[in-house]
Amino acid sequence: MNDPHSRVLLAEDEKSQALWLGNLLEKLGYSVEWVANGYQALEKLRKIRICIVMTDLVMPGMNGFELCQAIRKMRIDHYIYIIIVTGKEGKEDLIAGFNAGADDFMHKPVEEKELFARLQTAHRILNMEQTLLNQYQEISLLSITDPLTQTYNRRYFTEQLQTEMVRCSRYGHDLTLILCDIDRFKEVNDTHGHLVGDKVLQAFAKTLSQGIRQEIDYLARYGGEEFILVLPETNCEDAPACSERLRRAIPSLIFFSETGSFGITASFGTVTVLGDRVGAYPDVDVLLKSTDDNLYTAKRQGRNICVCSKI
Ligand SMILES: [Mg+2]
Repeated sequence: MNDPHSRVLLAEDEKSQALWLGNLLEKLGYSVEWVANGYQALEKLRKIRICIVMTDLVMPGMNGFELCQAIRKMRIDHYIYIIIVTGKEGKEDLIAGFNAGADDFMHKPVEEKELFARLQTAHRILNMEQTLLNQYQEISLLSITDPLTQTYNRRYFTEQLQTEMVRCSRYGHDLTLILCDIDRFKEVNDTHGHLVGDKVLQAFAKTLSQGIRQEIDYLARYGGEEFILVLPETNCEDAPACSERLRRAIPSLIFFSETGSFGITASFGTVTVLGDRVGAYPDVDVLLKSTDDNLYTAKRQGRNICVCSKI
């Protein structure tokens, strides 16, 4: 069974009790992992994603209270719902159990209907946690993505470049940055309208992203029609060829509007930071300024060209 909510870890030192509860759980559709004490339970939780734990209180080695406390201290990416199952009566253990981090408490002998109802509660909590987690991941992704082109946004780029520079300077690796800009993009918008302009931006970004190494290089929208590419471990021999390849791919894009079909070109400013340098790596601002200068030179020299340098 792959659904982690359909798996229960049962910590119980008495085999007859474990069999009884295990049978009930299986009857309700759960798969059961049985362990005889808290240490084994923790070991299992580290290896398998299990979201529901049912634990006895009195066990040799690590008891149920200690297990609850240890689970709450674990660094894991999901919630574990803990139900204490005990033969002892009285409020003291119940209070101590909740204080130790348990979510629920049941008395032996466990009855099927009660078990079902309590597990329903566990599912409500776990499902709510899953929904929140999904929403969080969605929001996290949105916060680093440009909505129009689905590339990374400038915020993400700025954060990542800093990290990338630290890594490259530590290991003495080269790093290439390419800033590119669609030539005369304002004319595209003015002549064909903003909707067509958006399509141009999307196609431009798609072409760039198809021309780089997946999972290694990355692309971000830097400004309106400006995009920036980060190519870790790309040296100054490879950088001009890579920029040229990207540049040459752009004029083959054809767009259609009410005023007819048209193509675009783009200019590229490329800078490689040399890894085998003597002395410190340049500041991020210096690198960006240098890349921007190269792009400006490309524009001034007539557009649709790549200007590359190294620092
Ligand atoms: Mg026991």
